This record gives sequence, C-alpha cells and structure tokens, in this order.
Amino acid sequence: MKIWKLLSPKTLTEEERPDSISAPTQAKVKVTKVLLAYPEIRAYTGASGVRFPRVPGMFAVGVVTETGEGCVAVEKNSRVYLNGTYACGECAECRKGNESGCLSPVISGVDRDGFLRDFVVAEEAHLFPLPPSVGDDIALYAGLVSLCEDIIDKLDVPKGTHVAVVGAGETGNILSQLLIYHQAVPILIDESEDKLAVAAKCGVYYTLKADEDLMENLSQITGGRMAEGCVFTSFCGLSPDLPFEITAKRGKVIYAGMEFPEMTVHLKKALDKEISVTGATRGYAQCAAAINLLVNKAVDFKPLLAAEANAADIPKLFASNAEILEKEKRVPLTIVNMI
Ligand SMILES: [Zn+2]
Repeated sequence: MKIWKLLSPKTLTEEERPDSISAPTQAKVKVTKVLLAYPEIRAYTGASGVRFPRVPGMFAVGVVTETGEGCVAVEKNSRVYLNGTYACGECAECRKGNESGCLSPVISGVDRDGFLRDFVVAEEAHLFPLPPSVGDDIALYAGLVSLCEDIIDKLDVPKGTHVAVVGAGETGNILSQLLIYHQAVPILIDESEDKLAVAAKCGVYYTLKADEDLMENLSQITGGRMAEGCVFTSFCGLSPDLPFEITAKRGKVIYAGMEFPEMTVHLKKALDKEISVTGATRGYAQCAAAINLLVNKAVDFKPLLAAEANAADIPKLFASNAEILEKEKRVPLTIVNMI
C-alpha cells in the first residue's frame, strides 16, 4: 500500500507499506477522497506539534474491498465514511463505559496515522456506510458536521435564540446552517464579504461584516439584547476578545475548531458579564447523526465545496497551502482524489 508520510516539518515522502486485515472485525478500504484542511497543513508545518513520522489525513471516504469474517455492517463495495476520531478506551470515562465522553479521543493524522494513503485497514466500528444520496464530496464534511452538532448540544439554547457565529469559514458556515435547522437564529460575522456572501447563498440570512458598525447592527437584529450564545471558530482571523463584546450578560461563549492556535483573551469583560466559556473540539460521537443530517440535506454544500486536486499534486498542495497559511492565517480546503 502506498502512504504519504511526514518525516519532519515540511518533509513529505511517499512509501510502500504492507498492511492486511489482522482481526475478524476489520475491513480493508480503498481510500477514494481525502479532505485536506487546517490540521493537515498545520501538521505539515510542525505548528500543531504532531509527533513525526506521521501519515496525515483526518477526513476521508472510501470503498470496502475486503472484510474480516466478523464484519456485519459493511460488505465488499460498501461506500464508507472513515471516522478518524474515536474513544481511547483507557481514560476514566472510557473505563466507566462512557466512550462518547472520552477524555482523550484518538485522532487520525494527529495521534495515529491518518488516511493519506491508497488503502487503509480499519475496525468496522470506525466505518460508516454511506447512503447513495450522500455523495463522496459531501460525506467528507461529516466530521465537521459532527463537530457542529456537538457545539449545538453544548450551546443548548431554546428555539429562536440569537447565536453569534464568529468566522464564516467552513465550520462557521455549516454551524450557522445547522443552527437554522435546529430553529435557532444564527448571526454570522466575518471580515470577508466573500465568505459572508457564500454563507448567504447557503441560506444564512443574518450575515454581518466585522467592522465599526458591528455592535449597532447586532443590536438591531437582537432588539438590543445582543447574542445570547456565541461561537468563535478557530483560525477565523478575528480577535478572540470579540465574543465577550457581543455576547449578552450571562450568555454562553464556545471556542470551537478541530484545533486551536495559541490565544490570549482579556477575561475581565467576560467575568463582569458573568459569561460562561467553554471549548468544543471534536464531537466524534455524533458521526451517525451527522450522516443522517447529510441525508436530510440539512446543509447546502454547493456554494461551499472545496476545490479538487489529484493525488499526484499532494506534495505541491502541502507546500503551497503552508505558504498561504503563514501569510494569511486562513487556508482553503482541498478535496484530494486518491484514484
Ligand atoms: Zn477515553
């Protein structure tokens, strides 16, 4: 099997590695598409502190080519989403049997080798069969949809609540659409008019530019109450202090993303307003729910889908995206066709 492996920061190599089914509950999957997002590019630059050598790749879809005799949920030719994040099986919560509350989930591409490869052998429990109505490109976003569902669970706001979403990147856009699906009222904020326009095309009706009129515009939408909940998406380029400005007294602020850069905030305002602050990073336990949401077309991905590239371009893609990340702090996502 062919793998792409990071040996050290900015050193990506290709190599052959034998891999075959070693337990009856495993299946072999031909990887068809991989989503390259922030975690992959940050791993490449060394910024995220992954231990080398490491095969990157957190989100992928594929087709089952072989199954162990104990597999019941997938069979040969099943299209599957590869769930790259799962319970460690060792922490206090896992030992209690509460795997969905695992304290240190294992993440593919970070804690273990990821999916940037032609074939992968995986436990059947980590494979989610895809219904025909969910295309490969959209299925790649199941991990982000899971994260957004986890954020919405943590927000736990009643219908009609105004939720400010800071950052109109993929996470902010998908989260806003899902908030609408769950009957909350998202107000999406960004500096980039282009990103806000994409979100508007996806059906997000309150979009606000992060400029000098932001507070006044937000006040108008919320009838002066400001946002009762606020989600700050990592790597959005806006100040992490912004949530404390725009959130109502005793509101809830969630910092969310697959990972975070180093951040400094001025806490006084949050304390004065008795705001509760928490984080949301994975939501891996929501995978089945996420695929169900994709079946129900709860999210419009058409204006949002990443550009495609071929496996032959992988080294070039990492190098050019790393440059963009260093310069602009935001990086476009790419769908890599592995066949
Ligand atoms: Zn655990």
